[in-house]
Amino acid sequence: MENNDRSVTMEKITSLAKRKGFVFQSSEIYGGLSGAWDYGPYGIELKNRIQRFWWKEMTQLHDNIVGLDAAILMHPRVWEASGHVENFTDPLVDCKKCKARFRADQIDPEKLQKHECPECGGELTDTRKFNLMFKTHIGPVENDSGLIYLRPETAQGIYVNYKNIIQSNRMKIPFGIAQVGKAFRNEIVTKNFIFRTCEFEQMEMQYFVKPGEDEKAFEYWKNERWNYYKKLGIRMEKLRWHQHGKDELAHYAKDAYDIEYEFPMGWKELEGVHNRSNYDLSRHQEFSGKDMQYIDQDNGNERYIPYIIETSAGLTRQLLMVLCDAYEEEKIADNGNEDDWRTVLHFHPLLAPVTVAVLPLMKKDGLAELAQDIRNELKEDFVTDYDQAGAIGRRYRRQDEAGTPYCITIDYDSKEDGTVTVRDRDTMEQKRVHRSELRAYIHEQIKQYKRK
Ligand code: ATP
Repeated sequence: MENNDRSVTMEKITSLAKRKGFVFQSSEIYGGLSGAWDYGPYGIELKNRIQRFWWKEMTQLHDNIVGLDAAILMHPRVWEASGHVENFTDPLVDCKKCKARFRADQIDPEKLQKHECPECGGELTDTRKFNLMFKTHIGPVENDSGLIYLRPETAQGIYVNYKNIIQSNRMKIPFGIAQVGKAFRNEIVTKNFIFRTCEFEQMEMQYFVKPGEDEKAFEYWKNERWNYYKKLGIRMEKLRWHQHGKDELAHYAKDAYDIEYEFPMGWKELEGVHNRSNYDLSRHQEFSGKDMQYIDQDNGNERYIPYIIETSAGLTRQLLMVLCDAYEEEKIADNGNEDDWRTVLHFHPLLAPVTVAVLPLMKKDGLAELAQDIRNELKEDFVTDYDQAGAIGRRYRRQDEAGTPYCITIDYDSKEDGTVTVRDRDTMEQKRVHRSELRAYIHEQIKQYKRK
C-alpha cells in the first residue's frame, strides 16, 4: 500500500536517525534519559564534518580569527560576572492536575493569566524562576565553598582568555576567537529530538572590535553567517532572520538577530548573531579586578574595553537542521508499489558520513576481491563503505538513505578494461570511469557540487 504522506516529520527523522546509526537515545536500555542523546557511527561522522566545515570557514578563511579550547569547569565567579547566576533563568509553571511542566513564556498568555493548563485545563501554579545552570561540587566535601557549574555557554571561556591570546599570538583588534565545545542547560522542556537538550555542543566565535566599529562588524558577521549556509548547500528559502525585540534582548545585548530554520515543527532559532557591547569584559574587569582594556599600540596607546560581536550556533541543532534539510522521499518509478519511492539524504558531499560506497555486482568471479582492492585505493582520500549483500538496487537504496553521494559498482567489464561505474546519489546517473582516474574524478565532483 502506498503511504501518501511524503513530507518530512520529526518522527521520520528520529526513526531514520536510530535505524541508520546517527543518533540513539541516551541510556536506552534503562528507559532513556530525557535531554541527552548519543551519536552513533554515522552521527559522529556527520557531527565532526559539520564542525570541521564551520572551523575552516571561521578560522582558516579569516586571517584574524584563532581557535581555543577552554575547560568546561570554570571559576564560579565567572558566572556571577557574566550575569548567569542572577539572570540565566526560565519562568516555570506546573499543572497541579496533570503534573505537566511548562516554560511560562511558551504558553498562550491568556491561559497563563487564567492559570489554565494548556494540556488538561487544570490549574497552574504561579510562575517561578528557575536557574538553568547545572551545579556540582569540586573536591570531596559537598558544601558551598566547592560549588561549581557546568558551563551553559562556551563564550565565557573565550572572554577570560582574551588577554592571554593577545599576548601569546600578538593579535590586534579587530580579531576573533573561535571555539567548539559542550554546554549544559537544565532545560525545563526537552522535546523535538535533539533540538533542545540538556547537554549539547556549541560553535561560537567572539569578535573583538573598537567601540564605534561594532555596528559595521555586526553587519559584516550577519552577512558572513548567512553565506555560510549557502555554502553548506542548505535550501535558502528555509532560512530567515529574526530580530530580537526590546523585551527579548538579553541583559548584555545591544542588538541581536537569530537565523531561523523552518523545521518540521515550525520556524525555530538555529544560531544567534549578537552585539554584546562591552558588557562582558567590563564585568570581568569589575569582578576579577584585572585590567581588561585593550592597548592600541598603533594609536598612541589608546585604551578601551572592546565591544564584542558574537556568532553563536548549536552544533547538535545544526546537525538536526542538516538532517531535516537533506531528507527527501522521492518518486523514482511508477509501478504502484512502495518500491517506486526512495528515501534519500541530500547531504553536501563534504558532510556525508560516507563519501564513497564500493559495491561488487557479484561476490563471485573475483569481483569482490577487485572491489576490495579499489576500496583500499580510495581509503586514504575518502571515508568508504563496502557492501556486497543483496541486489544492487537494494544496496543503492541503503546508501541513499545514509546520504552517500557516490556509489562505485564493479562489474564484469571492470575485470576486462579497468573501468567502473560511478552512480550519483542525487541524479542517479551512472558514468564509466577508469579506476586510475577515480580519485581525481570524485574530488572534482565534490568541488563542483551544487544542491539540485
Ligand atoms: P532559547 O531562548 O531557545 O532557550 P537561547 O536564545 O538562550 O535559546 P543562545 O544562548 O543564544 O540560545 O544559544 C546559542 C545557540 O546554542 C542557539 O542558537 C542554539 O543553536 C544552541 N542552543 C541553545 N540552547 C540549546 C539547547 N538546550 N539544546 C541544543 N542547542 C541549544
